[in-house]
Amino acid sequence: MNHYDLIVVGAGSGGFGAALAAARLGIKVLLVEKSDWLGGNATRCGVNVWETGVGGTGIPFDLYKRLKKIPHAVGIYSINRHICWADPAAGPVFPGGELLIDPTKHYLDTLRQFGAPEDYGERVFRQTHWHGVPFEPEIYAAEMEAMLAETGCCTVWKDTGCAKVAVGDRRIRSLTLSSGHSVSADFYIDATADIVVAQRAGCATSLGQEPRSLHQEPSAPLEPNDRLNGSTLIYRVTRTDHPGIEPLPADIPATCWWASEFPVASCTQYPNGDFNINSLPTMQGREVIALGYLKAYAECARRIRAHWHHLQSVFPEFQSFRMSWIAPGLGVREGPRLQGRYILTEHDLDAGLSGQTHDDIITIADHCKDTHGADTGRGARNLQQPYGVPFRCLLPAEIDNLAVACRGASFSSIAASSCRLSRTMMQLGQVASTAVALAHDGHLHSLAEVPSAELRSRLAAQHVELTWPRPPELVAHLQAEDD
Ligand SMILES: Cc1cc2nc3c(=O)[nH]c(=O)nc-3n(C[C@H](O)[C@H](O)[C@H](O)COP(=O)(O)OP(=O)(O)OC[C@H]3O[C@@H](n4cnc5c(N)ncnc54)[C@H](O)[C@@H]3O)c2cc1C
Repeated sequence: MNHYDLIVVGAGSGGFGAALAAARLGIKVLLVEKSDWLGGNATRCGVNVWETGVGGTGIPFDLYKRLKKIPHAVGIYSINRHICWADPAAGPVFPGGELLIDPTKHYLDTLRQFGAPEDYGERVFRQTHWHGVPFEPEIYAAEMEAMLAETGCCTVWKDTGCAKVAVGDRRIRSLTLSSGHSVSADFYIDATADIVVAQRAGCATSLGQEPRSLHQEPSAPLEPNDRLNGSTLIYRVTRTDHPGIEPLPADIPATCWWASEFPVASCTQYPNGDFNINSLPTMQGREVIALGYLKAYAECARRIRAHWHHLQSVFPEFQSFRMSWIAPGLGVREGPRLQGRYILTEHDLDAGLSGQTHDDIITIADHCKDTHGADTGRGARNLQQPYGVPFRCLLPAEIDNLAVACRGASFSSIAASSCRLSRTMMQLGQVASTAVALAHDGHLHSLAEVPSAELRSRLAAQHVELTWPRPPELVAHLQAEDD
């Protein structure tokens, strides 16, 4: 059986951050990915945008700098039009948000979301402060692979799933992979989004919305329920020399059959001028679970054809585009979550860094409470300052040599709706592996023994953002490197 210092399962945002950080620190890593792409949601599912927000100054910035050297690989958007700002008297209303590449913006401009008012009346705030990072998914995946290869310390096995987990004496002992191989390591990181490893290792997990009585979250429902953040099948449209409304297959209705009206769309320009169409959402999260993944994907593929027909019909500008790509993976925003040594809740989001007292904050975030289709209708949506994620959110109570670094980390449903962004997940991966390196060098038995102060100081040395206001030396680093 091959033995490694660390096995990372899942090569999405969290898994890439974990594998790269570990390999850069000289840890011998195996990265196992069940699909044939690196990048997870950000590539295979077409979620080719890093949304606006604090954090993202460590490995995400390194990846951005690589992409920037390649023509049409990456850009920065500004919000151009939005359905909430439109004046219907002025003509057809843009059916969602339009995010256009803005060559005047820099990476630093993409690193703040908090402070937005509750409604879309304050259009100037969003147009001034909200800038995200769209990229070309295939180039992004290739650069991820190149960065890992350059370390000389990371073995990548694609098309390989984790099938079984062997546990003994509070430790994962080995994994059996879909290829039939068994592999072992001193430490493991679960970055599978659906926390497959943690679940198979017997860790406590939860799914859906917790009752208010559990964490006393103001926006939580009174009773627990199975509502999940909605899922989206993303598609791409490309300019055509033959404008018109694309024909709809005969078996697909032109009217919306799954909701009272067609969903709005977030339309983000690719660096090459195409648009990424993200219908918000295509299917409710619980419907995906009820149908099962394959049937849900097939139904979403029908819905987006009707959605595109609708967009072209109500907004003539879209008639100059044709549908050119449908993501091979369905974008699932929410699944099972770890119930770890600490559960991040709405109280952390509302308290923000100035009100939190944890001494193990290892990542900061400021995305709004963003529950696409699963709203309970209470509580403020936008955040007024960044909040911190404690290291304990990555640690299961039951297993000593496992960290969870993906959207299924130990967050309440409401906290997860804010925390799940791609750059935040990549940072969690970087954190988990920096902790593994400390445990490895210090011969520690459990990741929970890693000293928080030492971990924070190692992360700060890797330019990971941990405090607000942003330290001047971090600003200087981001400006100097983004030339
Ligand atoms: C439609 C949609 C739109 C979004 N919009 C944005 C946005 O605009 N900006 C933003 O920043 N974030 C956005 N998000 C959120 C963000 O994309 C995700 O939360 C984030 O990418 C999740 O990263 P992850 O590493 O947790 O999981 P993933 O990226 O899902 O990676 C998990 C990986 O694990 C692999 N895997 C799963 N099971 C196994 C197994 N058994 N063995 C081996 N490998 C396995 C999967 O194949 C996958 O590659 C969006 C999400 C969705 C769904």
